[in-house]
Amino acid sequence: MLAHLLLFTKVFGVVISQAGTHLRAFISSFIHRRTYKPGSNPKNIVVVGASFAGYNAARCLVNSIPSGYRVIVIEKNSHFQFTWVLPRFCVVEGHDKKAFIPYGPFLRAPPGSHLWIKDTVEEIIPSEDGNPGGKIRVSSGEKFDFEYLVLATGSSAALPSRVGQEEKKAGMQALRDQQEKIGGAQDIVVIGGGPAGVECKGTIPEKNVTLIHSRKTLLHEGFGIKIHHTLSKALRDLGVNLILGEKPTVPTGVTVGDIQLSDGSVHFDYLIKCVGQKPNTALAKFAAPYAFSKSGHIRIKPSLQIADDEYPRIYAAGDVIDAGSLKNGRSAMQQGQVVAQNIVRAIRGKSQIEYQQKWWEGLTKLTMGLTKSVAYVTDGRAEWVIPTKSKIDLDCQQVWKFMGATPFVDPDEEKENNSVTEMEVSSYLP
Ligand SMILES: Cc1cc2nc3c(=O)[nH]c(=O)nc-3n(C[C@H](O)[C@H](O)[C@H](O)COP(=O)(O)OP(=O)(O)OC[C@H]3O[C@@H](n4cnc5c(N)ncnc54)[C@H](O)[C@@H]3O)c2cc1C
Repeated sequence: MLAHLLLFTKVFGVVISQAGTHLRAFISSFIHRRTYKPGSNPKNIVVVGASFAGYNAARCLVNSIPSGYRVIVIEKNSHFQFTWVLPRFCVVEGHDKKAFIPYGPFLRAPPGSHLWIKDTVEEIIPSEDGNPGGKIRVSSGEKFDFEYLVLATGSSAALPSRVGQEEKKAGMQALRDQQEKIGGAQDIVVIGGGPAGVECKGTIPEKNVTLIHSRKTLLHEGFGIKIHHTLSKALRDLGVNLILGEKPTVPTGVTVGDIQLSDGSVHFDYLIKCVGQKPNTALAKFAAPYAFSKSGHIRIKPSLQIADDEYPRIYAAGDVIDAGSLKNGRSAMQQGQVVAQNIVRAIRGKSQIEYQQKWWEGLTKLTMGLTKSVAYVTDGRAEWVIPTKSKIDLDCQQVWKFMGATPFVDPDEEKENNSVTEMEVSSYLP
């Protein structure tokens, strides 16, 4: 009871301190907007990847960089791909486009403070002989100089965890293909009982569904026993065959088959793999081997500079780094913010601040079926599991609003529709 009271007080404290942080950021960006000038030949701070980590790093940077600097954001996707809804939108129809949030308004960037490039970074070429900065090369062949660089390339996987397509149209089609395959299957096996697997299963009605998870408890490190009990009961109530503590060989290249377990086997005519996310570290190949963890993530210093003293101006944030047990959107955003603060501090000749993952970054909402969910947080001593409700689209309009976009209006789509209408009209003109 005392532990719960303490947790409640701590959550309340975090809410107050975050409100203070946002207010301070609002005031300082208001002042920055009126004083910042890019100058005629600004120095570049390049951000590679604009998801939770990179997009927030870019937002904090454009609202705090000194005059004479600008931010270049390089992102290969046409839209912000909102991972949290992917498992659900792989099953339910009619919401696909909500997973693709238009880029731009979240930055609230003063004029001249940034350049947005939709392209893939192919190579990072750090300067040699101890000179600071370097160049990056994008797939079009163009090169850009950088004074500072933020690597926020995240991780890759297949659906239902990642879209695997750069353009919105192709991404929506990929979701529809999944809906069709899942809709046509009867015996579905979900491999992996992390948040994606639990969400995925909770959404599939009227099918035989088996969920296989390697740990004895659902989810992963950082989640406690109470949430395991809540979720496993909810899943069993939904009719799921829950198999824990099993790590079977996952078949590849087959659409129908059997999975061998230590005690028997389970048949599938559709397999959903919610495991095997890999950090996108290929661009960091210039760094020394010790700058990578055993899991293949980029090792960082507490300042979030990469753990290779040769490159003090290269920072990394988000799922691509080894920064603690939590790999989630909130942590990625916090890291993006610290990276931005440290780059500005470095430019101003100030000491670096340190990032340490905090328990409240694990605050999350987990769904248990189509409309039931729980809000969850733990400080390692007590767990708080609060039953809530959510809409079928997981209330994702809130995230659109947070990203500065009008739910679910996409200016690119509007432009496309208008140009089609103009073409149609002109084809009727004499
Ligand atoms: C199914 C699912 C559900 C989830 N649910 C939650 C949740 O409820 N709450 C929560 O907090 N977290 C959740 N997460 C975790 C969260 O999505 C990740 O932690 C977060 O996306 C990490 O953000 P990131 O910016 O580090 O990387 P990513 O989101 O992986 O993004 C990396 C970005 O870099 C770009 N990129 C990569 N390489 C290049 C290149 N060479 N050139 C240009 N651009 C490049 C990519 O296009 C991408 O936009 C969930 C994850 C999954 C998969």
